[in-house]
Amino acid sequence: MYECPHVAGLPHPEPDPLSDTCPECLAVGSHPVQLRLCLECGHVGCCDSSPFRHASGHAKETGHPVMRSFELGDNWRWCYEDGSIV
Ligand SMILES: [Zn+2]
Ligand SMILES: [Zn+2]
Ligand SMILES: [Zn+2]
Repeated sequence: MYECPHVAGLPHPEPDPLSDTCPECLAVGSHPVQLRLCLECGHVGCCDSSPFRHASGHAKETGHPVMRSFELGDNWRWCYEDGSIV
């Protein structure tokens, strides 16, 4: 598996989710397709198949590169900076 340099800098244990859905979608009445959890700060955002892509927006705005899927049964992580599963 690809060694992402950002994973080593992530907080342990992983941050508690700040919400149980995408708050930015909630605010505008949109519906997330899937949810992503920022492993730097616990921000929950919607995936790139959702209309607003708030998870990638969050990564761009904050520079938090690594998220994991927040869907039940999923445990893969994605690094936006590397553009890869990590
Ligand atoms: Zn990375
Ligand atoms: Zn959203
Ligand atoms: Zn974050």
